[in-house]
Amino acid sequence: MWRPSEDSDTDFWRSRGNSILQRLMVKEHMKQRLLEAVVKEMQIGVMVTDADKRFLYANPFFEKTFSHATNPEGKNLSEVVKDRAVAEVIDRMLISRAEEPQEIAVEGKDGHFFEARLVPFSLEQGNHVAVNLTPTRPACAGVSADRSARSRVLIGFFHDVTEEKRVEAIKRDFVANVSHELRTPLASIKGYAETLLDGAMDDKATLKNFLTIIDRHANRMTALIGDLLTLSMLESHQMPMSFESLDIKELIQAVIQGLEKQAADKGISLSLDVRGRLAVNGDRDRLEQVMVNLIDNAIKYTNKGTVKVTGRKDGNMLRMDVEDSGIGIPEKDLSRIFERFYRVDKGRSRELGGTGLGLAIVKHIIQGHNGKIWVSSRHGKGSTFSFTIPIKR
Ligand code: ADP
Repeated sequence: MWRPSEDSDTDFWRSRGNSILQRLMVKEHMKQRLLEAVVKEMQIGVMVTDADKRFLYANPFFEKTFSHATNPEGKNLSEVVKDRAVAEVIDRMLISRAEEPQEIAVEGKDGHFFEARLVPFSLEQGNHVAVNLTPTRPACAGVSADRSARSRVLIGFFHDVTEEKRVEAIKRDFVANVSHELRTPLASIKGYAETLLDGAMDDKATLKNFLTIIDRHANRMTALIGDLLTLSMLESHQMPMSFESLDIKELIQAVIQGLEKQAADKGISLSLDVRGRLAVNGDRDRLEQVMVNLIDNAIKYTNKGTVKVTGRKDGNMLRMDVEDSGIGIPEKDLSRIFERFYRVDKGRSRELGGTGLGLAIVKHIIQGHNGKIWVSSRHGKGSTFSFTIPIKR
């Protein structure tokens, strides 16, 4: 009977052991590469400095948003990071050999804001850092008296919170604006009502005059609350659009009929030019609201002259233009005109019964129809508000 010799036994186990080791090494290598790829692709800035504040590693996101030096590896902290707060915290952590992570708010490049977490890490305790930490310049061995201090590194994670801050600021501004917009007419209503109660109501002419003013302010508040509700429902997608096939000419003709008197009272000629039969898939009420807002604005902000509404096919899109020969919009205000409560002249808008929300509502509705809206204007000469939405195929 054949028996394996002791030699062949050993060979067998050795080769088996080698192949397991190889497989483990391949696995370890793959893990390392995978982790490197993850850190490289992360949309969080990652950096590592040694105890001499020299950069051992910085991922591309850190370089893009935070680093003031290209290829920070091997460079000193002061060359790479200009934010004093970060430098001071890192200094303090290194001097005190802090064990605990530190969190700070810092400013990066181009007005970006970050929340940074700095984590002390010892390379000596059998821990591995899964990125290539080989410094570009080798550390000077003679200087190192304390090995454990030398093996300490600081890992920093920089989370970009610019967008969160922007949204927070918008919310804060919005609440402040709403409160202000409601407080103003409410204060007037209260003032006039109190004056009437104090005796002014005995004079019939004053009574009528004051009641008319109270009624106007109440109407303004009603309009504002209506617009706020519409906007909030559009933004939270609680106002479902019901799409149907619409003949755009018919829809706009009806809107124009309702606004003709307002235009005629100001001596403005209001015209409509829609070429051919243009059908879109849209929500009738919402598109009417868009046209009413744009044409009403055109009439409101034009003292005399013309308001022209044109519609035409532009590729697969319907393009509408509402052009007026009115007061126009200064260049500096153009980019913000679709923001909530943004008005060129607050006093004038209020006097005309405006809420400052009309264009924000219009923009939401057009976007809900997969369209785009924009404005071109020359101050003192007039404005053209244009939008496109897909044509029904
Ligand atoms: P408002 O209720 O104040 O009219 P909108 O959101 O409809 O609010 O418009 C925002 C601002 O844009 C207006 O206050 C006005 O300054 C400006 N604006 C809008 N349409 C026109 C236009 N056709 N001509 C000049 N300015 C306009």
